[in-house]
Amino acid sequence: MAIWEKNKALQEILYAELPRLAREEGMEHEQVFACLDSGTMVLLGNPAHPKLQALLIGQPARIKVNANLGTSPLNNCPQTEMEKVAAALAAGTDTIMDLSTAGDLDAIRKQMLEHCPLPVGTVPIYAVGKILIDSERDIAEMKEDELFDEIDKQCRQGVDFITVHCGLSKRGAELALEEKRVLGIVSRGGSMLARWMVENNKENPLLSDFDRLLDIVKPYNVTLSLGDGLRPGAGADAGDAAQWEEVINLGQLAKYAHKRGVQCMIEGPGHMPLNLVQGQIEGIKRLTNHAPLYVLGPLVCDTTPGYDHISGAIGGAIAVSSGADFLCYLTPAEHLTLPDLEDVRAGVMASRVAAQAGEIALGRARALKKEAAMNRARKNLDWENMAKVAIDPELLQKRRQTHKNEEVCAMCGKFCSVKMLRDVKVKKK
Ligand code: SF4
Repeated sequence: MAIWEKNKALQEILYAELPRLAREEGMEHEQVFACLDSGTMVLLGNPAHPKLQALLIGQPARIKVNANLGTSPLNNCPQTEMEKVAAALAAGTDTIMDLSTAGDLDAIRKQMLEHCPLPVGTVPIYAVGKILIDSERDIAEMKEDELFDEIDKQCRQGVDFITVHCGLSKRGAELALEEKRVLGIVSRGGSMLARWMVENNKENPLLSDFDRLLDIVKPYNVTLSLGDGLRPGAGADAGDAAQWEEVINLGQLAKYAHKRGVQCMIEGPGHMPLNLVQGQIEGIKRLTNHAPLYVLGPLVCDTTPGYDHISGAIGGAIAVSSGADFLCYLTPAEHLTLPDLEDVRAGVMASRVAAQAGEIALGRARALKKEAAMNRARKNLDWENMAKVAIDPELLQKRRQTHKNEEVCAMCGKFCSVKMLRDVKVKKK
């Protein structure tokens, strides 16, 4: 039985959207069916999300980009976050995640779903953590029902994908703590669950009661983004036993969920040196049955605050060429503060650059076609067509504004090498 025959909500969206999706991705219908049924591609879309455009994630579909938004206790302005939704959409993001941890989280999520026609993701344990922290209770006091009830509520609201750290076992958490990592556990959700497990001496409820989670999300076709709670938070922590133990669990859980008709993506690292990116990505893909891999960065340097979008794009390009499918942006504000509007724009653009670079390396026709169009336009000093194919046409026009009536650009002016040789004909001897 195919996955959409086990999941009526998925079937509804797939049948309604397939012609558009296949056309946009340049794929045959049969190829989309085959990829979804093998679990190497997911179709994001909760029928409860108003005016949603469903989205395919998983190569050979186009590499997708996510923008993380949301309030924090030190920067809590829901109106600004809605402006950031608009900025992320204008910059060309494919999804957004609402990571809000301050204010009225239900209202913010509802507004984001209304403002964003693209898939919206969340990390439901943040909302549970906020309730506990606001009432001055310890995270270890969380009741298992509180977590599952929150997930259920968010599915009903229309969220399309959720990060759930189901692969983070008690053993994995203990390994990470015992291994004396430089930066321990840096995932917010991961650190909450690790504290809960160690303090209560109990297994992660998202792992021990995985079937309950599947029963909740399936009627809404909410895709599980199986979180990497033990991802390395420093280059020096990459590739330890705790990280791989979690990856192995994620692979097994994704396989089981798929059999039950629930779609899964795998979340990946994190911080790691450049020389480890390819091996890590290939290893994770292999251990998770080539499920769509959603990576945060990877950040290839730890010393780049203010420039982490660049550090992440370098890692992201190699990750894509090694098999990653979905890039979570990093902005210049990473590790420092909440991103502002310009940070959001810069972060989305950096990830889109990484996606294009990775797709060129993979020889994807859509990426090569764009490169060829840009080169043709450059050869002809055709600024209009350069703008059409540029990743950021607005920036191209802005930077050219002061000399827009010149045929050449201000970089070389009369020394323009394109023009210099344009009329030259080699004389035959
Ligand atoms: S002026 Fe220089 S940089 Fe500008 S188009 Fe000509 S060769 Fe290229």
